Amino acid sequence: MKELTAREIPCSAEPLIFDKKLCIGCARCVNVCQVDIMIPSPEKGKPPVVLYPGECYYCGACVMECPRPGAIRLQHPLMNRAKFVPLEQLR
Ligand code: SF4
Ligand code: SF4
Repeated sequence: MKELTAREIPCSAEPLIFDKKLCIGCARCVNVCQVDIMIPSPEKGKPPVVLYPGECYYCGACVMECPRPGAIRLQHPLMNRAKFVPLEQLR
C-alpha cells in the first residue's frame, strides 16, 4: 500500500500561534476546524501542524475549543486589524 505524506503549503499568512509549553497536543482544535487547515502533530503532545494557513477564516472556534487557555491564539492579518473610529475622535 502506498504511504501518504503531507507537508505545509508556503503562505505569508500565519493565522495560528501555538504556545508549545501550554499545548498538550490533544487535537481538539484540529477536530473543530470546519475547513481542516491543520493535522495533529506526528509527535505526541506537540501542537498541530498547520497545512493550509491561507484557508483560515478566523472564526475562533479552535481557540474556544482549546482546554488550555493561551495554548493557541489567532493572529489576524494586518489589514483586518484596522479599526473604524468615530470622526469626532480624529478632530
Ligand atoms: S479560526 Fe476557525 S478556520 Fe481558522 S483554524 Fe481556527 S477553527 Fe479553523
Ligand atoms: S492548541 Fe489546545 S486544542 Fe489544540 S492541540 Fe494544543 S491544547 Fe489541544
